[in-house]
Order: sequence, then C-alpha cells, then structure tokens
Amino acid sequence: MKSFSVASLVGLLALSATSSACLLPEERENDGHIRAIRGRQSRNNGTPIGTGDRFSGGGVAPQGLGSQGSNTSFSTILNVNEIASGLKGLASIYGIETFTTPYKTYQGASIQGAVVGGSGGQCKEAYRVFLNGNIHARERGSADNVLFFISDLLYANKTNAGLTYGSKTYTAAQVQTALSAGIVFIPLSNPDGVAYDQSSNSCWRKNRNPASGTGSTSGIDLNRNFDFLWDFNPEVRLERATYHGTSAFSEPETRGLKWVLDTYAKIRWYVDLHSYAGDVLYSWGSDENQSRYPSMTFQNSSFDSVRGILSDTPGTRGGYGEYIPAAELTAQTTAATRMVSGLNAGGGSRYYTAMQSSDLYPTSGASDDYAYSRHFADPSLNLVHSYTIEFSQGNNAASCPFYPTVAQYNANIRAVGAGFMELLLAAVELGLGDETTC
Ligand SMILES: [Zn+2]
Repeated sequence: MKSFSVASLVGLLALSATSSACLLPEERENDGHIRAIRGRQSRNNGTPIGTGDRFSGGGVAPQGLGSQGSNTSFSTILNVNEIASGLKGLASIYGIETFTTPYKTYQGASIQGAVVGGSGGQCKEAYRVFLNGNIHARERGSADNVLFFISDLLYANKTNAGLTYGSKTYTAAQVQTALSAGIVFIPLSNPDGVAYDQSSNSCWRKNRNPASGTGSTSGIDLNRNFDFLWDFNPEVRLERATYHGTSAFSEPETRGLKWVLDTYAKIRWYVDLHSYAGDVLYSWGSDENQSRYPSMTFQNSSFDSVRGILSDTPGTRGGYGEYIPAAELTAQTTAATRMVSGLNAGGGSRYYTAMQSSDLYPTSGASDDYAYSRHFADPSLNLVHSYTIEFSQGNNAASCPFYPTVAQYNANIRAVGAGFMELLLAAVELGLGDETTC
C-alpha cells in the first residue's frame, strides 16, 4: 500500500485548484466533505436523449457523420438501448465480430465491444488499437463518438469511399490503412452509470455500485479503480466524486477493460474517450515525465513521499519525476499531436491541445496510465501507448456542463472522428508491434 505525505497533499491541492477536465470545480475541493453539485439550477439538459430505437433492434446499422454530407446532423443522443442495438446493427450488416466482457455490472448489465479490420488474419493478435467510450457516465456523446466513428469506417470500406470531418478529408485508401491497424472498441464501458445519468439528468460520473455509501455518495469512479498507484492519491480516498473503490479492480467494469488488454494482448495504442477540457493527454498522470532516471518509477516505493509534486526538479533534493523511456515519449507526443490536428480541424474549432496528463492534475488509478504501465510492471506484456482524449468545451448553460448543445454534440462527433483517424494513421506509421501471425 502506498502512502502520501503532507507535502504531496499540499502539492496536489495547489495544482488541482486551476483545472476542470472531468471534474467540476466544486468536486475538486478537497476538504473531506461531500460536495453535491450545486448552484446549477438550469433545466436545460442540452441535446435530448433519444427515445425509442433508431436502429430497430439491430436491423439497421448506424452511419456516422464523416460518411454523410456536411449538412447532416443528429438531434438526439443515443440512449443506452440504442448503443447496444447500434452495435448489433454493425454486426448484422457488416458481419463484424462482437464480444461481451466476462463481468456483469452491479445492476446486471453486460459490457459489449467488437473488433474490426486488422491485417494478417482474424486472430486476436490482429487488433492493435483499443478505443474505449463513456467510462464516466455524464460525458454525453462519448459512446456515440466511438460507435459513429466505427460506423463511418465500415460504411466507407464497404462503398470504397473516403471520409470527411470538417476540413479534414480522408481518401478511401486512408480508410483502408486505418482499418488495417485492427481496432478493438467498447462504446459504453459504464452502462449502469450512463443509464442512470440519462434517466436522472443528475450529472452522474461514477458507476452504480453502492459500496462506498448511499445516495449521492454511492458509486465508484472507474477511472480511479485501475491498478496503477491505486491507493496513492489522497484525492481518491474520500467518499466523493473520485472515490476509487475498495481495491484496485474491485469493479466489474474495470476488470472488463483489463480482460480486453489481456485477451487482445497485442494492443499497442489505447484511447479512453472523455470530455470536456479539449485536450489530448498522454502518460504519465502521476508526476512530470523524465527520461534520465530509470529507477525513479511508480514501482519504487522509496519515492512515495515525493510523488505527485510537480513543482520539483527530478533528481535534485529528492525531487521526483516518472520515468518514461525517451523513444516511448517521442512516440506518445507524436501521436498526440496528430490527434490534436484532427480534433481541431474535424470539429471546426481550434481549442484542443496536447499535454502530459499530470499537467492537468496528478492522478492515480486511471485507465490510460494502467494500460501504459503494464509493460513496466510485467515485461512479458505489450507496450501500450495510452491516451485520454477530452472532447468538447462544456456547456455552461446546461444543468450539467458535460451535456452538450446540439451543435456541440455534432461538432464533437466530427472532431473525434478526425482525431481517431489521425491516431490510426499515426499508429500505422509509428508502429503496431510484432507482425501478426494468425
Ligand atoms: Zn472523464
């Protein structure tokens, strides 16, 4: 078990005051009290949640905006049933292979995903990019962005066409290249949380496991429940917005994502899709990156007391930085920059930036750091370059700023589509790992 010092707590507090990202300002007040979402009296909930099932139980495949004209737009967000029937529609129309992770949620829901593309065969080793959506419930449009992007790729592939997102245009050949990376995707990794958020408009972030308390304090922040410095950050111990659970991987949702990384063991690139800070974050999230001191890592408990302080200089007077090999850092930042170029051009705005996760605020137990840390903790496991994309700018007129306007919702679909295209093309250029041998 990791411990933290007063110094690291002070460091974390100082840094957390200025940023928003996945947390609301009131949720970042680390005084030990439970903070309800307050002062948001608006009845405007942004883009309405769709009713019924536009995909007719899987009889109709979704089609994204990149394969339709620039005047096309959607007026409602996919409801939880539609996300499932949309995935079923892709399977029935395009014949893609779906899977269900082995762990049911607290409320008995299944977490479903699928694989598309790949080269060199159809075995599990053929899939090298993993896209995950909506681990945080209230980040509306995350699942939609994943599902519609894959739908665009499949439609363009079938019709031998290209894709257009805002001012970004991709040829049919680039669509083929993107698909050749082999993609594993899960549109909705927190189905209980999203179902609750959609029915209550409560700005719900976590899952629905009541293990941590009742009412507004129940639920686990899934993106603090992964086995990466799980018990390090004091932020996550309190029964509040970021409660990290009773142990690393205590939750079926996070165990399911670990299962994906174990099962599709050659995944090389991973994106966890969040909103709404307008950035692409690359590892590490625990402390500033450094490439000079290989022993200065999350695995070395002698640095626990100084981890999470960003104002120090690694290597001086006990100052700490998280070790990242220089070549891996270059690959991380190169692909992040590519994604930013897609996000900025695809959505018609230019507010996305690439930055190291810890520059936003230090975190522990997050999915992206866990995925990237696996090859340090166990050298037999694959290197996974890992990212968080935070789409959108937030909707301050809504009851919850994570609920986009209709214009934002559509712009986000296009921005993320181009961001994902850039990731896939960059991944093919930068490397997908071993040759596939199916
Ligand atoms: Zn988030």
